[in-house]
Amino acid sequence: MLEEKIAAVQAKINEALAHRKEEKITGNTVTILAVTKNHPPEIVTEALQAGLTHIGENRVQEAMHKQEVLPPGGTWHLIGHLQTNKAKHAVEHFALIESADSAKILEHIDKAAAGLGKVQDVLLQINEAGEEQKSGFAPDDFRAVIPTLSSYPHIRVRGVMVIAQATDHVEETRPVFAAGYRDFVYLKQQLQREDVDILSMGMTHDYWIAVEEGANEIRVGSALFGARDYSLKF
Ligand SMILES: *Cc1c(COP(=O)(O)O)cnc(C)c1O
Repeated sequence: MLEEKIAAVQAKINEALAHRKEEKITGNTVTILAVTKNHPPEIVTEALQAGLTHIGENRVQEAMHKQEVLPPGGTWHLIGHLQTNKAKHAVEHFALIESADSAKILEHIDKAAAGLGKVQDVLLQINEAGEEQKSGFAPDDFRAVIPTLSSYPHIRVRGVMVIAQATDHVEETRPVFAAGYRDFVYLKQQLQREDVDILSMGMTHDYWIAVEEGANEIRVGSALFGARDYSLKF
C-alpha cells in the first residue's frame, strides 16, 4: 500500500529531524517529492490520492505526456538535466525547475518565461561531490553566478538542489549534504529574500542523512513506487 510506504518515509523523516545536531534555517517541515519517472501516468493519480502533492519527473517529454492524459493536479518539479531547446516546454509544464545547472540554461529559461509572461521558479543544482558525469554548477561557479541572477527578471531562484554520489556506504554522503546546506545558507544571505526557501537533497537510499543535514525537500521514487520500468516509452 502506498499509504503505508508514505507513512514509513514520514516516520524516518521525523526520526532524522529529531537527530539534527543544531537548528537549521530550512525549518522542521520536509516536503516529499513523489518521483514518478519511468512509471505509468496512473501512478501520479495514486500519489495525489494518497495525499502527496508534489510530483517529480526527470524528462520534459515524459511529464508532458502524463499531464496530457491526466486530469489537472499536482505541483510538478523537473529534476533531470534540461537541454536548452526544451526550455520553453519546461517553463510551460513545471512549477519548479530544480535542475538549473549553467548560466546558459538560466538565460534560456528566462527568455522562455518572458515569452510566456511567467516568472519561473528554479533551484540551482550544485555538483558538490565534483563528479565528472554529473551535471550541476561546480561550487565555485555557483558562487560566481549568484551576483548575475538579477539579470534574469523572469527567474525566481528558490534555493538549491543536490544529488549525492552513489555509494555502498551511505554515511559518505553526509559531507556532500552538509556542503549543500552551507551553500543554501550562503545563497539566502546573498539574495536576502524570504522566498529562498527550498533545499532539495536526498533520495531513497540517503534521504534521512540529507534531512539531518538540513534538507526540507526530499525526492523519493523507489521507496514509494518500487522499481522503475525502463522499457516504458513516452
Ligand atoms: C530518479 C531520481 C530520484 C529518485 O530516485 P529514487 O532512488 O528512486 O528515490 C531523485 N532525484 C533525482 C534527480 C532523480 O533523477
